[in-house]
Amino acid sequence: ATQEELPSLPRRPLGRTGLEVSVLGFGASPFGGAFGPIDEAEAVKVVHHAFRRGINVFDTSPFYGATKSEKVLGQGLKDLPRSEIVVCTKVGRYGNRDFDFSAARVTASVKESLERLQVPYIDVIQCHDIEFGDLDQIVSETLPALAALKAAGLVRHVGVTGLPLAALQYVLDRVAPGSVDTVLSYCHYCVNDTTLASVLPKWTAAGLGVFSASPLSMGLLTNAGPPDWHPAPPELRQAAQAAAAHAASRGYNIADLALRFAMRQPSVASTYVGLPTMAMVDVNIDTTLRALGLAPDAPPPPQAGGAGPDQVLAEVEALLAPVKDLTWPSGRPLP
Ligand code: NAD
Repeated sequence: ATQEELPSLPRRPLGRTGLEVSVLGFGASPFGGAFGPIDEAEAVKVVHHAFRRGINVFDTSPFYGATKSEKVLGQGLKDLPRSEIVVCTKVGRYGNRDFDFSAARVTASVKESLERLQVPYIDVIQCHDIEFGDLDQIVSETLPALAALKAAGLVRHVGVTGLPLAALQYVLDRVAPGSVDTVLSYCHYCVNDTTLASVLPKWTAAGLGVFSASPLSMGLLTNAGPPDWHPAPPELRQAAQAAAAHAASRGYNIADLALRFAMRQPSVASTYVGLPTMAMVDVNIDTTLRALGLAPDAPPPPQAGGAGPDQVLAEVEALLAPVKDLTWPSGRPLP
């Protein structure tokens, strides 16, 4: 089938925001250059292509490439109909050791992001990697500052992001109802780590919209392997490499299998994948449609001995079982 004949990406409600987001979301962190150099003219085409194929939700941060990701994404978004896209960015993280969740900084930051993104409002503004900040300040100062920006119409919804689920839960347990609309978790709904599943029932029952990012665990579950800065401990890196080699020996790509796994979590509104090229947009949309049973699987490759993708995915899961839910430390201890 040509791409035009394929069904479009399904959408899901984003908690109680009233927004509907494509199940596959556009992760724009690669536009910051952390995974390799970026051609800006090409990046604009990639954004338009993703939108044409049904992706309507875009995630960035001033941190990615020290504002470059927001600028490049903004170049692509400015030609798209504003009411048909969901634009998400962040506040509070500006460099590897540069965190500032003060009301003054986050308020100025939103205004700067609006300019870089070339939009009149941001759909979802998120506190970026809260575990590096003072969680009590997030509750008492940052979120109230973002609520004021919401009242002023500069942002529509407010969220929190971070790695340790306990840090996210700490804040959720202490905020006034309605002051947090979305949560973004990353690297916790992947073949090797499904700890997000344990909190999903509680979060969705509370009306939160849940984003899950990095289904390939920031490059761990790819043939190219993770970038040098990847924080995974050596045993996890080695297991992922072995899983990738096994998938390849069966004629499958570990990234396709990993995305297939991640897309089958119906309580996640949207899963963000880093999408720096047209080819990655297409392959990840096609994999998503197949994972959800909306497009037929390709016939097994010759090396597979008849094994379909679900069987080889089960083999990969078994290989990763010894490192299941193994993660890495991030940020400060809980207060
Ligand atoms: P990822 O796991 O989605 O991807 C990692 C790398 O793999 C990227 O370079 C990506 O381009 C590449 N890739 C994508 N599809 C591929 C394929 N089919 N084959 C081979 N390689 C492929 O991780 P990510 O890019 O870290 O996360 C996605 C997005 O989620 C980010 O762009 C960001 O928007 C968001 N995110 C947010 C936070 C946070 O707020 N704290 C943390 C992590 C990610």
